[in-house]
Amino acid sequence: MRKPFVAGNWKMNTDSRSSVNLAKRIACGSSEVAGHGVNVAVFPPFVYLDSVAKALSASSIAVGAQDVYCESKGAFTGEISPSMLKDIGCAYVLCGHSERRHVIGETDELINKKVAAAIMGGLLPILCVGELLSERDSSQTEKVVTRQLKNGLAGLNAEKVSAVTIAYEPVWAIGTGRTATPQQAQEVHRLVRNLLAQMYDDRLAQETRILYGGSVKPDNSDDLMSQQDIDGLLVGGASLNADDFLAIIRSAA
Ligand code: PEP
Repeated sequence: MRKPFVAGNWKMNTDSRSSVNLAKRIACGSSEVAGHGVNVAVFPPFVYLDSVAKALSASSIAVGAQDVYCESKGAFTGEISPSMLKDIGCAYVLCGHSERRHVIGETDELINKKVAAAIMGGLLPILCVGELLSERDSSQTEKVVTRQLKNGLAGLNAEKVSAVTIAYEPVWAIGTGRTATPQQAQEVHRLVRNLLAQMYDDRLAQETRILYGGSVKPDNSDDLMSQQDIDGLLVGGASLNADDFLAIIRSAA
């Protein structure tokens, strides 16, 4: 019912040549699975989106941006609008990645505006939520994830939210090599699905894909994907290595 989805967040890595090479290697290696058993998308840095989108145009791998601004055009120096992303072939956009929340300082309110603007602009947002280690250690996970989910989707009706994918990414597991156990991840994924049912309806909750992110590697992706409410994986570091990313795609398929 929910098609598995594997997304590779390249963060601030690669250059003009290596981004295209990486995209081509992933497209070549995933041709049997991508588009059939699993959706795959890569999220290169803004400046390489256009060339990566061109390199992938004959494949079934989608391209997404790591961020977007919440206005359609105007005096917003340095920002990129949803229509600009659409224009160069982006399908997806990450909203509220933990590095944007905790390094750049984005608030729930701004992230909500970005999710809404992305949907209005015809993009498919991936809303990222997840607690800090101190929040997990003080039993605040449920409270934090609930707040981020409700605030991130505030003002959006079920029809709009049907364009959204949720990514649960515990901050303590991102880039640290410390993955949540499949059970820890499943618990929060179940919480997110229950919240979606409460906020909207059961159908939307059952249809929404919830990805896990946080030090996903080929050796833990099978176990994570075996959980009932884990519908895919948002992969950072391991998505920069074509062989590792392909192995993760295969485990999702
Ligand atoms: C991410 O960037 O969303 C991420 C989960 O990174 P990593 O896989 O490197 O932990």
